[in-house]
Amino acid sequence: MTYTKIRRVSDALGLVAIAAARLLPLPGAARQMGTLTQLKDIGLFHSQGLIGGRWSDAHDGRTLSVNNPATGELLTTVPFMGGVETQHAIAAASEAFPAWSRRTAADRGKLLRKWFDLLLTHKDDLGRIMTLEQGKPLAEAIGEVTYGAGFVELYAEEAKRVCGDIIPSPYPEKRIFVLKQPVGVVGAITPWNFPLAMITRKVAPALAAGCTIIVKPAELTPLTALAAAELALQAGIPPGVLNIVMGDAVEIGAAMMASTEVRKITFTGSTGVGKKLMAGAAGTVKKISLELGGNAPCIIFDDANLEVAVKGTLAGKYRNTGQTCVCINRVLVQDGIYEKFAHAFVKAVSQLQVGNGLENGVTQGPLINEAALLKVENHVQDAVSKGAKVLTGGKRHSLGRTFYEPTVLGHATDDMLIFREEVFGPVAPLVRFKTEEEAIKLANDTEFGLSSYIFTENIARGWRVAEALEYGMVGINEGLISTEVAPFGGMKQSGLGREGSKYGIDEYLELKYVCLGNMKQTLP
Ligand code: NAP
Repeated sequence: MTYTKIRRVSDALGLVAIAAARLLPLPGAARQMGTLTQLKDIGLFHSQGLIGGRWSDAHDGRTLSVNNPATGELLTTVPFMGGVETQHAIAAASEAFPAWSRRTAADRGKLLRKWFDLLLTHKDDLGRIMTLEQGKPLAEAIGEVTYGAGFVELYAEEAKRVCGDIIPSPYPEKRIFVLKQPVGVVGAITPWNFPLAMITRKVAPALAAGCTIIVKPAELTPLTALAAAELALQAGIPPGVLNIVMGDAVEIGAAMMASTEVRKITFTGSTGVGKKLMAGAAGTVKKISLELGGNAPCIIFDDANLEVAVKGTLAGKYRNTGQTCVCINRVLVQDGIYEKFAHAFVKAVSQLQVGNGLENGVTQGPLINEAALLKVENHVQDAVSKGAKVLTGGKRHSLGRTFYEPTVLGHATDDMLIFREEVFGPVAPLVRFKTEEEAIKLANDTEFGLSSYIFTENIARGWRVAEALEYGMVGINEGLISTEVAPFGGMKQSGLGREGSKYGIDEYLELKYVCLGNMKQTLP
């Protein structure tokens, strides 16, 4: 039997044993097994970390629970790993690095392409796992699989385009070359809101460049990451090239920071944690890229096409129940269109369907946890206490748990919490403005600078305002701007570096200048 077959058979057997050992003593075990066996390919379900190609438990046997936010159901438990396991993973990634980085780019690209194909083949199962652990509607989850797989396809192709340079030398006897080489072992830490795409957006360029990687997915959503890792192994990506650890975030992060073998940290998550990692990376002067929080303005000008503005704002605000870093946080609406926009927008928002993401027609899932719900409630209470009017929603949903009604607030102002901080939930505050200059000032009045949106039919205004906005990304007459082919990232305290597109691979490469001297000027 080949390595892959042995692993798959033992995993399939192991899955039952592990699930039985961990789940049967717990209440509702039959239901848990039932949910998990809904997958078409049960081999995608893993509840162990991946270190050096082996599915592994925590050294001390500790585990953490993974629950469905829509129902509260315990889905499974996964190892609660820490510094020890992270060091093992770093050792595995270091061992795998020389062989992986020496493979030809074309060869690495072929394996990534196989991984892409497998991700798409299994998109329904991956989507289902994602909905179960994260709560987003199934169609949206499957959409994320396609989006996330897109990074793998893109970098399968880009691997072959990592070209160096020859620079005309100012010295007759010298030649100047620039090589691009993989940075080495990478540590990646990712959030729960995009359980697949935030991982492939890092892993695919790292592997294409010739790096090896240790990924720490969010503790709330490890199962999608583990399923994707299973498919990477099936694609033939060698053991140790991709490793997954989860558990004690602080210990895992500290082990990555302390290691001199880890040459690069790539993080997506909150600005607070990003700052800690940036400080930690200083100890060993690691390369670092950060995709952090946002506070996206959406400016609706009087000359906007109302239908386009409502559709775009709806998509840009309520996707993933408002839990994305590029979600619209503040809707700035010009005086002349304010009433018409508010009326049409509220009508559209009231039609959103809230529920369990596995049910047909649902467009709004639950918030990820109670803390997220409390933050939303706090922002709404603060806004109302300062004069905002609830135009629709404004309270917990009758479904209970962490469901919240899609909400629109009128008469919002810049002294409200919701204007200053990411609400990360389904609440849109409408802020009235008079002039273009005022809108730009309001939009830039934040320490964040990730995404921004403009709705106008005036091309010159669109360009002018896009140039004035201090944001890494601008959508003009468009609420959905994420795509693997465009550079994603922020200015100011929203981050450092870019992911996706032809630029994203640079984060995983070192430039090496080679000078060749003693060149003879005449033929011998
Ligand atoms: P978070 O609390 O910063 O967590 C993100 C990741 O960091 C998780 O894996 C978490 O682990 C880990 N972590 C937490 N504390 C850590 C520490 N001290 N050292 C090392 N790792 C640590 O963010 P979140 O609440 O999951 O995600 C929401 C935030 O992410 C929002 O601000 C959102 O805007 C931002 N985000 C940004 C982008 C972007 O591309 N710019 C994309 C998506 C999300 P545990 O889960 O195990 O605690």
